[in-house]
Amino acid sequence: MKLHGTMQVNDKGHLEIGGCDTVDLAKEFGTPLYVMDEQLIREKCREYYGAFTGTYPDSFVIYASKAFLTLAMCRLVESEGLGLDVVSGGELYTALKAGFPAEKIYFHGNNKSREEVNFALEAKVGRFVVDNIYELECLERLCGALRTKADILLRVTPGIEAHTHEYIQTGQIDSKFGLVVSNGQAMEGIKKALELNNINLKGLHCHIGSQIFELESYQHTVEVMMDFYNKVYAETGFRFEELNLGGGFGIYYVSGDKPANIKTYAAIVMETVRRMAEEMNYPMPRVIVEPGRSIVGEAGTTLYTVGSVKDIPGVRKYVAVDGGMTDNPRPALYQARYEAVVANKANQPRVDEVSIAGKCCESGDMLIWDLHVPAIEPGDILAVFCTGAYNYSMSSNYNRLMRPAVVFVKDGHADLVVKRETLDDLVRNDVIPERMKKNKPLSVVTGSRQ
Ligand SMILES: *Cc1c(COP(=O)(O)O)cnc(C)c1O
Repeated sequence: MKLHGTMQVNDKGHLEIGGCDTVDLAKEFGTPLYVMDEQLIREKCREYYGAFTGTYPDSFVIYASKAFLTLAMCRLVESEGLGLDVVSGGELYTALKAGFPAEKIYFHGNNKSREEVNFALEAKVGRFVVDNIYELECLERLCGALRTKADILLRVTPGIEAHTHEYIQTGQIDSKFGLVVSNGQAMEGIKKALELNNINLKGLHCHIGSQIFELESYQHTVEVMMDFYNKVYAETGFRFEELNLGGGFGIYYVSGDKPANIKTYAAIVMETVRRMAEEMNYPMPRVIVEPGRSIVGEAGTTLYTVGSVKDIPGVRKYVAVDGGMTDNPRPALYQARYEAVVANKANQPRVDEVSIAGKCCESGDMLIWDLHVPAIEPGDILAVFCTGAYNYSMSSNYNRLMRPAVVFVKDGHADLVVKRETLDDLVRNDVIPERMKKNKPLSVVTGSRQ
């Protein structure tokens, strides 16, 4: 069992994060609760900034906001000198609302709507990462209508099969993302982009997947991309200024996960680009990386209150918590695994083996199988580790559960950054058609009409 960031066990035997007793946090803010270790997020940002921009000034780190995005997170990211990658009008709106500088925003997505593109053009985002020819043509037209031009990267699939869960693999040829390099579609897209009047082609983008541990996958990607840059030059006489290598850097979730060092990752990527640029006599492109999970993943801990405990002797002991696949869909989606502790019994010997179930009406709503815990009982606080990425951002209202609150903890202070949803939030967008308002049972419930 690994403790992360500022975690420690205090004198009461309680788990503490950012100097805050998690049992007190559960009392103050309720459960389920996402607790984010602000110092650890900042440390990760600084590690990336130092390893890339600090060491190689011709590189830039942008945070992939889909991993975890709120207004406060935008402020944090900006204050650490990183850019931002957004994939929808909603993420873009959040960033702009937080005052994030538009020129440091990269706009991704494989099916941007007309409204989203117009919104981004009007906001003057730094780059559009164009996924396909259809989008390229739309962007050309919409730019024309607004009498503006767009700086773009074209997304390509370099044909790298990273060793990760197949749902989070994205660089292989059979993918919904990007133009394939090996069959000529990428070259076709580049030639098309070069012909268009309102498009400034700055470079290519690729993203080979997520939760990747092997640095060779990145080195191989750089080699394929730089070779292709050279091929494009040979065929068109055009040279790219920028090379965006996406994100995907793996993190620790459970014992056995061995993430590489960020400095080593940066050195391998940057030295490979440099070496190849020199060999090919190609001007060094500006290199962009887009970490998401590795910035926020380990910094997040979800607190739950234990409810019913169901022992099936000789089979399994189910321990149910007050959240589940609604606040963490990753186990159900990807068979993701997590470690956890009983926060109020953090230094007690782990004498029991239990499986943690959520409260949703799905047998697949299981958070952790076969977890070793001290004697566990209703009212205990369970702390699940490494839930900072793709938990809050993927949360849902299934079963009409309310999304949990999010707090940033640091130096003994806890600041609410997202309020817990209320029952009213759940019906906020519901509409009763006029003709149903006459319905008797409903009028009894609402008391509003006879
Ligand atoms: C999801 C995504 C990222 C971030 O991936 P992580 O695994 O969270 O680092 C970066 N770039 C693109 C294009 C993505 O889709």
